Amino acid sequence: MNFLEERIKKDGNVLSDHVLKVDSFLNHQIDPALMSQIGKEFARRFANEGITKIVTIESSGIAPAVMTGLTMNVPVVFARKRKSVTLSDGLLTASVYSFTKKETNEIAIAKKYLAETDRVLIIDDFLANGQAALGLIDLVVMSGAEVAGIGIVIEKSFQEGAKILAERGIRVESLARIASLANGEVSFINEKLEELV
Ligand code: 5GP
Repeated sequence: MNFLEERIKKDGNVLSDHVLKVDSFLNHQIDPALMSQIGKEFARRFANEGITKIVTIESSGIAPAVMTGLTMNVPVVFARKRKSVTLSDGLLTASVYSFTKKETNEIAIAKKYLAETDRVLIIDDFLANGQAALGLIDLVVMSGAEVAGIGIVIEKSFQEGAKILAERGIRVESLARIASLANGEVSFINEKLEELV
């Protein structure tokens, strides 16, 4: 297990077969030392991609994204979840269905913070069915910038998101990959592989 998987085993709570709660270090209280380690790991994995900007979505993507931006020395832009669906000047918008909140949000980024010359690394806290990632990809593509890859803190590999993004040919790097949350237990892809060896 890597540093993040160990932390998930120690402090994560399995709420159901599909939902993991990590409020004590990522989604409510934030552990800055862990976020720093996460930022360094994303920066290491994407070091050769010529990243010029990081894009994430409020609120739980911001902490890992900022730590990655700090290490890579590039700015971080976070998409806002807007209450209103009215278009405003200078905004790029996309619709995202939220897995945890069971509602559709309009997300938006100001055009001026993405340039056609940007190579963008998208960062988010969780990858479930891929809706948040797809919405962020849409915003980047609309701006004319390029998506260089996606960094995910916790991927639930048993849901559709990882497959959908792989089918689109996008490089996804997930620091923890959960194979299953069945029976109140977290099991990781790596553990399953180790069992097979
Ligand atoms: P997706 O759009 O991939 O279906 O879901 C990703 C978003 O839903 C993430 O930004 C995250 O906020 C939230 N999410 C999905 N699954 C979980 C989960 O198991 N636990 C928590 N805390 N958030 C989740």
